[in-house]
Amino acid sequence: MEQPNNFWLHDAVSALAYSFAKSNGENPAIQPPFNDLTGFILRQRAQMPDYLRGPMLAATLGFDTLGLLKSGKRFHCQPPELRQRQITAWKNSSAGFKRDLIRYFESLAVLALHSREIEQSRPAPLTVQDKNVITSPAAELRAEIVVIGSGPGGAITACLLAETGRDVLLVEDGPFYPLTSCAPFSKDEMLQKYRNGGQTVALGRNKIAYVEGRCVGGGSEINSGLYHRTPPEILERWRKEFQVEALSEAEMRPHFETCERDVSVSPLPWPAPAASLKLHEGATRLGWKSLEVPRWFRYTVANTHAPKGTRQSMSETFVPRFLRAGGKLLPQTRVQQFWQEGAKWILEARHHPANAIRVMADAVFLCAGAVQTPALLRRSGIGRHVGDSLQMHPTIKIVAQFPEAVNAADMGVPVHQVKEFAPRLSFGCSISSPAYLALGLLDHPQAAREITRTWTRMAIYYAMITSEGRGSVRTLPGFRDPLVRYRLTENDRRKLADGLHKLAQILFESGATTLYPGLAHGQKLLQSDDLARLPEILPDGMASLMTIHLFSSCPMGEDPSRCATDSFGRVHGFKNLFVNDASLLCTAPGVNPQGSIMALARRNTFHFLNKIPNKLSPAHRVA
Ligand SMILES: Cc1cc2nc3c(=O)[nH]c(=O)nc-3n(C[C@H](O)[C@H](O)[C@H](O)COP(=O)(O)OP(=O)(O)OC[C@H]3O[C@@H](n4cnc5c(N)ncnc54)[C@H](O)[C@@H]3O)c2cc1C
Repeated sequence: MEQPNNFWLHDAVSALAYSFAKSNGENPAIQPPFNDLTGFILRQRAQMPDYLRGPMLAATLGFDTLGLLKSGKRFHCQPPELRQRQITAWKNSSAGFKRDLIRYFESLAVLALHSREIEQSRPAPLTVQDKNVITSPAAELRAEIVVIGSGPGGAITACLLAETGRDVLLVEDGPFYPLTSCAPFSKDEMLQKYRNGGQTVALGRNKIAYVEGRCVGGGSEINSGLYHRTPPEILERWRKEFQVEALSEAEMRPHFETCERDVSVSPLPWPAPAASLKLHEGATRLGWKSLEVPRWFRYTVANTHAPKGTRQSMSETFVPRFLRAGGKLLPQTRVQQFWQEGAKWILEARHHPANAIRVMADAVFLCAGAVQTPALLRRSGIGRHVGDSLQMHPTIKIVAQFPEAVNAADMGVPVHQVKEFAPRLSFGCSISSPAYLALGLLDHPQAAREITRTWTRMAIYYAMITSEGRGSVRTLPGFRDPLVRYRLTENDRRKLADGLHKLAQILFESGATTLYPGLAHGQKLLQSDDLARLPEILPDGMASLMTIHLFSSCPMGEDPSRCATDSFGRVHGFKNLFVNDASLLCTAPGVNPQGSIMALARRNTFHFLNKIPNKLSPAHRVA
């Protein structure tokens, strides 16, 4: 929560929260008081990337003080009608920062408001206890190998190393909560398991919101579990363009197959959710290829009327295996930088809340994800081809309304994807809880107001592109969080517009009666003829864009003019320093990336094990 000397901020945020709540719901379930909304917004504000916090505070102060000029009273002291007028003026302003400020507060207020019915205040979740989980680390630790980050890349690396008898310390910035510590895709999950509370954005002419996991298991704890192998033509492209060795389909196959077994990749044992089937039906009617994507899930169907599934995230699979093999896990510890002294790597880290610790190791595997890995390398003075070529799958959404029910509280994860135009364009259905629907309708306030009545007939769909644009990851002196920028090419904006158009076609074909595209001031679409109103190229800054797929910030390969690491993740020019996560993918794979990340992590770890003889000695044991 904010410092007491920021009481004006509390009052301004409270006035905003009450204004948004009032204009958003006439339903009895969302009546005042709205102090919980204020509390949530302030908590989230405290978590936002640190370099954005100052400008945001200044803009909020400006917004609050503006009222003085207009009515002699600060915004938070004005009567509700005047507040509403000021909000509307900023929301429709031509100044981007004014629109952004209102959208920021509105999205948080709306998310909290529509999460109220399902999320009562719960006790703080308990962290997982195990004799190999270090909770009070000594000021100095030693290990033969340190793995930084416990997402799919890091958990697999650490597990395979420990299972072959190596002395491994797995260091993770986030807490170690069980998978069941909160409802999946909820506001609680954002607070517990997302980096910066899920408020990360790639800056540029078109801002792209992105999210990363920050907990033991990384992104695998919060994702949908949709599995693809890397398409063979993508492997071929990486082999040719980036000179990556040992990357043919045949060489990768055993890694895919073993990972698929390890995390139980399988199709749904029961019918897909209605909203998912709608996408499939619409595409099939158009003659477009659509498929059910398998997931990493373990299902228990026998002897029960309510079959269940458990997502096979890293905290359910590779992390327990790692601990059973004797690996040591150090959660809530952020590695800040590292350097080499002789043959040893020295890591400087901070254990929550403020304990400074040092770790000494012979080898380091950096698996902190596509944004944090390049940031950590750059902070440690290693910058060659690091953080210069970030790629992502930019995504735009449509909320569709149908005449009949397609949504329910227990709808689960939609599993169909339309791949007719892949890798250029892919289409799918998203999590469509009332809170997410309300966020998807921020550009359509009238429809948002009716959500508590209409949500069971609504679902969110996406068009995702394989982008030609590039992004960068940079560290800023004095700030903890890295600055991420991304530039969409003109062709990307054309692809996104085309994606929106084709997605709308599928949805009308599947019987949708109203479509709400994620475009600022976008009009709703009521029939196929309305598709002509969609732009042919997305106007800069007018679309709500997001992504959950980030990669390619430290591409692998032997081409020294563009690769940060060799074909197996060793950082060029350094001994015993490896990257083994999403950063390695040479370009956007055009499919959900975790399957590629897992298989590459396995391949690279075995390459390391075959090359570097076992140096385990008692002196290396983690304290
Ligand atoms: C909401 C969501 C849905 C998704 N759905 C799918 C899907 O259905 N299918 C799919 O294939 N992919 C999906 N993804 C993407 C997938 O989860 C990621 O590609 C994958 O998790 C990346 O793995 P990684 O190991 O590279 O990094 P991450 O999973 O990001 O793990 C990195 C870990 O390192 C830790 N870390 C970072 N910095 C430090 C530091 N300095 N010190 C110590 N630890 C640090 C982080 O806290 C984190 O736990 C989704 C992602 C999200 C966010």
